[in-house]
Order: sequence, then structure tokens, then C-alpha cells
Amino acid sequence: MTVLYAEHLLTNAGWVRSARVHLTQGRIATIQIGAAPQAGDERHAVIVPAVSNLHSHAFQRGMAGLAEMRGPGNDDFWSWRDTMYRFASRMSPQQLQAVAAQAYMEMLEAGYCRVGEFHYLHHDIDSRPYGDPGEMVARIAAAAEDTGIGLTLLPVFYAHSSFGGQPPRPAQARFITDLDSYARIVERSREVVASLPAGVAGVAPHSLRAVTPDELAQVVRLLPGKPVHIHIAEQMNEVRDCVAWSGLTPVRWLLENAAVDARWCLVHATHVDSDELKGIAHAGAVAGLCPVTEANLGDGIFPAADFLAAAGRFGVGTDSNVCISLSGELALLEYTQRLSRKARNVIGLHSRSTGAALFERALHGGAAALGVSTAGITEGNAADLVSLSIEEPAMICRAGDSLIDSWLFASQSGVVDCVWVGGQRLVEQGCHRQRRRVRHAYAEAMKELCA
Ligand code: ZN
Repeated sequence: MTVLYAEHLLTNAGWVRSARVHLTQGRIATIQIGAAPQAGDERHAVIVPAVSNLHSHAFQRGMAGLAEMRGPGNDDFWSWRDTMYRFASRMSPQQLQAVAAQAYMEMLEAGYCRVGEFHYLHHDIDSRPYGDPGEMVARIAAAAEDTGIGLTLLPVFYAHSSFGGQPPRPAQARFITDLDSYARIVERSREVVASLPAGVAGVAPHSLRAVTPDELAQVVRLLPGKPVHIHIAEQMNEVRDCVAWSGLTPVRWLLENAAVDARWCLVHATHVDSDELKGIAHAGAVAGLCPVTEANLGDGIFPAADFLAAAGRFGVGTDSNVCISLSGELALLEYTQRLSRKARNVIGLHSRSTGAALFERALHGGAAALGVSTAGITEGNAADLVSLSIEEPAMICRAGDSLIDSWLFASQSGVVDCVWVGGQRLVEQGCHRQRRRVRHAYAEAMKELCA
């Protein structure tokens, strides 16, 4: 049995001092509060729960920074997507695994314990299916196993280029499946996550652009009770095209035509009105917010304060992985609300600080979206933990919620010290245990991709 001693411990019941956390078989067995440390205890100043990253396209980590040049006209999401398609068209299974492992390692070093991989790179470079339809999902699972991050694998169903069943574009050929071939990829996804500790498989209709109503209904039925993730209203063009097709905005269409419930995660529900926000909240779905990517792509600002007023749940995701930072996502989420409302401390609770309120909501919303029923530090839960360094200047003389505030809003890096997933310590002094090897494989893959 491992015992962690924390001077400050953020439990699901709030902060406690001088706690001994007993870990057995990957879980938190008992928590002793107000105890003295004992010989053999691992001593840490601050321990908080690790958070789920609910939305990632791991392969895009390799193109981070390659789409920051303005073209001849207005640059937007769609020109970024062209760059992404060119990058995706060249990637081999081995390269995907190396790039995903690098992304997952960085997520762990940022304080994430689990990733929701929204995976759509299914076919070979020539667009033909691999002999094993699960070739690429197995590579994602291998990258998760290699780094130790928890995996919720969300194979994507992608069949059309736009609303009303438009034929796919040539650049989308590696992503495209029919329902039968998709079902085989889902089955292989179930198999590969079964070999991982706490692996989960769900389904991911890519967007209302990419599926027909009938296909959506069939995809959602494939894995009863498991997570359903969809890109929903990221771009105004997408909203306008949906209205032209159906007379309804994407969120309204989904709420009226699908049995949206707590299984669902609506990623990029950026462009919504107040009734739609209430509808998402009432359905119990999680809003998947990716503030750094949404800012990078110029998507828009999700009205988070109105959503929380409607008792909505949210989690955060690193999406394009342009910059992997848990503190960065949560700080930017709050800052975009401040900028749009010309106010401070928008996503707050009266009894908690803004940072603590953001962190707690992302913790529980992220886990729920990834099919994990319970999150946070309490007896019986998985030992998914982060220790924070109080040596960093921003963290000196902090206690309680101000530890979270100073981490999210006032530090550059270096605050995350150790990270445990299922009781395994994967990160020490801010560095993943396999950092040199994972980084070397990533560098080799990138040299090949950029040649
Ligand atoms: Zn996405």
C-alpha cells in the first residue's frame, strides 16, 4: 500500500489539512485527516484531483503552429482545416502512435488523467481500409497504454461533407466510413480499450454536417449507455447551413430530433441562444468547451455564465492540442467571459473562488462526459491525483482555494509536480517518467512527416 501525505488536500468535501491518503489497487482506500506523517509516507504540500480532458484530436499535436500565417483573404477555421487535412493525409499508423503519445504525455504533465480521443483518422494513406479496421484505434490505445493516461476512445462516424448527405470531399477520404465499416471500428475500439485499465469506448457522430438523421440514430444505438460526443455549433457558417437545410439551428435540431441525455457531450456548443442553453442543461448533457482551440480558430465565445445559471454542466478539452495546458484552458474560459461581459469573476460561486469553481466543474463535467461515474478525491474513487509545487513564486503563502487560483491565473508553468493515474505515479517533478523516449519517437515521426 502507498500512503501519500498532503499538507493541503482538496477532497470532494472541500479542503482538508494534514491528510494521509492510503492507495490500494489503484484506488483511494482511506483518507485520514489531521494526521501526522509517518515513516514511509510520500510527502507532498498540495494534492488535488486530476481532471479529464474531454476532447482531443491527438494527431493534430504535430501540426501545432503550422497554421499561423494569414492567407490572402480573411483567415478562419476553414483555411486551418485545409492545413489539417494536408497533414492528416500523410500520417502512418506508427507516426500516429508517436504523435499521440507525445500529446498524451503532455496532457499528463499538465494535470490531466484521462483523454476523450475523438478519433477519425481511420483509413490508410491511399484511403483504403486497413486489413484490420481497428489499426488506427489500436495505435491510439497503444499511445494511451504507453503513457498511462486513461482513455475514452470515441471513434468518429463521418460520411458527408455537409448537411443533407452531401458527398464527402477527396481530402476527407481517410475519415469516411459507411455504417457497417463504422460498426466494425466501434467493435475493435471496444476490444482495444478492454485491455486498458479503466478504458471506455463511446461513439462520435462527427457533426450534423457529416451524418444524416438516420445515420445519427443508428450510430447512437451502437453502444447503449456509453458516451456520445458530437461537434455541434462551432462555426457560424455551420449554423447558417443547418438553418438552410432544416430551418433550425444545430443545437435546436439536435434537441428536437435526438434523445439527448446525460450520455451526450456537445462539443463546441459555441453559437447558442438562451433557450438552447436551457435545453442542453435540462437534458443533462455536458458542454464540451475547448477555449484555447476555440480562440486559436476564431470560433467565438460560449456563453458560459448563462449556461451555469441554467445549471448546465461543462468540461474542458484540448481539441487541436495547439497548446496543452489545463490551467490555460480554465483561465481562458474565465477570461473570455470577462472580456465579453466587461466584468470580473464571472464563473464563480458565492462560497468558492473563481479558480476553484472552474476546476470543480471541469473535474465532474469532464469525467461524466467520458463515461466515468465518479471523480475527485474521496474514499473508493480511482487514485487520479496531482500534487502541486509550492516552490513556484505564484504559489508561495497560498492556502485553500487561492492555491487553485494562483495555479490557474498566476503561474507560467512548473506548478504541476507529480501526477498519478489509477495510483501509478506517471509524472515526477513535472516530467513524465518516459519523457525522453516518448519525445525521441515523436521527433523521429515529425522528421519523417516534415521531410
Ligand atoms: Zn474537435
